[in-house]
Amino acid sequence: MTRDDELLQRASELDRSDPLSAWRDEFHHPVQKDGSPHIYLCGNSLGLQPKRTRDYVTQELDDWAALGVEGHFHAEHPWMPYHEFLTPSTARLVGALDHEVVVMNSLTVNLHLLMVSFYRPTGKRYKIIIESDAFPSDLYAVESQIRHHGLDPADALIRVAPASGDTILEEDVILQAIAEAGDELALVMIGGVNYYTGQYFDLERITQAAHEEGAVAGFDLAHAAGNVPVRLHEWKVDFACWCSYKYINSGPGGMSGVYIHERHARDTSLHRFAGWWGHDQETRFLMGDDFRAMPTAEGWQLSNPPILAMAALRASMSIFDEVGMEALRQKSVGLTKYLLDLLADLGEDVVQVITPKDASRRGAQLSLRVRSADRKLFEEITEAGVIADWREPDVIRIAAAPLYNNYTDLTRFYLILKQALSSN
Ligand SMILES: *Cc1c(COP(=O)(O)O)cnc(C)c1O
Repeated sequence: MTRDDELLQRASELDRSDPLSAWRDEFHHPVQKDGSPHIYLCGNSLGLQPKRTRDYVTQELDDWAALGVEGHFHAEHPWMPYHEFLTPSTARLVGALDHEVVVMNSLTVNLHLLMVSFYRPTGKRYKIIIESDAFPSDLYAVESQIRHHGLDPADALIRVAPASGDTILEEDVILQAIAEAGDELALVMIGGVNYYTGQYFDLERITQAAHEEGAVAGFDLAHAAGNVPVRLHEWKVDFACWCSYKYINSGPGGMSGVYIHERHARDTSLHRFAGWWGHDQETRFLMGDDFRAMPTAEGWQLSNPPILAMAALRASMSIFDEVGMEALRQKSVGLTKYLLDLLADLGEDVVQVITPKDASRRGAQLSLRVRSADRKLFEEITEAGVIADWREPDVIRIAAAPLYNNYTDLTRFYLILKQALSSN
């Protein structure tokens, strides 16, 4: 038996003893032209489709066909309160209270809506801290909010970069920037897990530091929700939002979750952009002229929501309810540790992992900087069946999603990468 075969055999033993292994079959796995399955390691970009999603969506199509407008009250899952069906599982997923969460809109839209409430610059306090390699949409949102208030991002936006020579952004560097901004700081708004490096930040420490300076702490959890355990309420985070189509598997363009700490959510006088779906439920349909906000995160809703998209999200959230974040996290840490060990054999000078090695500081994603890599190498591993993600100039992002990836996937990826490196 060759060493490669031995590795594959060990991987299949690990898969057999994995208590979550059966979940893999609950998902549709994309196949190559010849019918063999891809090695799908791209759940950080778009999660795979749960097999049960079709039934959930079909139910709503059937109810719409059979009931028309009456479905708002008489559908199997009435559309009027439909978003409420998602509340308990959403709250559990991010460690929030039920009245602190709501599912609505998409992510960047919600970033804006939340900044309308939580970025209210005054003469002295107007600065925002963001991480230097923030996701572009977050940067655009923050910059345009600053301009919206007649301010200049060159002055008002502080982009915190890793110390020179570092690839990861140490929390100490963020805390120092927060302290330096002091009473000029209005908002700290960073990604909970960085989309590029896969680093999971210490959100509790960052929140505490922001609060000490009298600023607000808000997080984009696009790469954190459904990936790492978070306890937003306990950490006193002011607000957060995330998309559900990455680790949460709700489908392309799936809906966004929102969290607003109860000390703000309860405050119906808080400035916001309003719409009828955020109006007090008892009197919403009296269609009166005066807006009365619901005293929960639901008070930020604008429109009646897209039921088909929410049906798909209900399907995927039911899986999280059944598996639980704790078990998922345990498997996730096992998978990334395993891949890190394999990659170490290739040598740091060939494959440098820019994601933190300490498991508590990362989620399911490992970002690999590959020596003298270019798109050609990436195309070669794609050709060999791997679906991963390439970021210019030289980073391959690999996500081992614990619901549907296994040790064999990671071993096959490693062997393909090794092969591609030896032929380049
Ligand atoms: C995926 C992602 C987005 C995407 O935003 P949409 O509004 O859902 O298109 C934004 N920010 C971060 C940090 C992301 O990872």
